[in-house]
Amino acid sequence: MACADCGRARSAGLCEACDQRRQTEALIAEAGFLAATWSADLTDPAAVAAVAAEVRTAIEAHIAAEWEQFLQITDLADLEAAGPDVVEDTAAHNAFLAAESTVAEYQHQALVLLGRSEEAKAEARQAYATERAKPWFRALPDSDDALRAATEAAAQAQARTAEYLLAVRLEQLRTQARPEPVRPAPRSQRLPELAAHPLHGTTPEVIA
Ligand SMILES: [Zn+2]
Repeated sequence: MACADCGRARSAGLCEACDQRRQTEALIAEAGFLAATWSADLTDPAAVAAVAAEVRTAIEAHIAAEWEQFLQITDLADLEAAGPDVVEDTAAHNAFLAAESTVAEYQHQALVLLGRSEEAKAEARQAYATERAKPWFRALPDSDDALRAATEAAAQAQARTAEYLLAVRLEQLRTQARPEPVRPAPRSQRLPELAAHPLHGTTPEVIA
């Protein structure tokens, strides 16, 4: 079967390059969402789209730079000699790898910045206070162990809140991006409509 995206023959429906391109597209969309979680008003589709466009430009520039670098250490003629699709497949695969590493960076950045949000800081303060209120802490309020335990509890609460905020916001963005499912009308509403429709090749008189 030819590739559904580019028409390359004998590709089992989707060639290697297009498969990589689709995955790269999904990664670019994901990176846009990750950046939007901390930088955009999620209820404003134009703001979310603007962030996505900025992220796409940045990732595409990164992909182009990586390819330039790759060409400096690779002989293009060797790749071309290896087969008709090798250059295209290699470029698509390199783009996928570059996008993948960028998504990991966007995810890290989102967690760091959501960790600085008021919600995360409030959770950290709460965890610190809870730890300090424990009896063993009150007995030795200034010990290194006690302070370390409270600081550790605060950092964990902050990180957990950042992860929670990220998950909730990503889910919101993905839901908003999903097209509305087209539901057929309930059968009870369709029956009168179907009943009114004449059967193919027959007339009401024949049916009667
Ligand atoms: Zn293809």
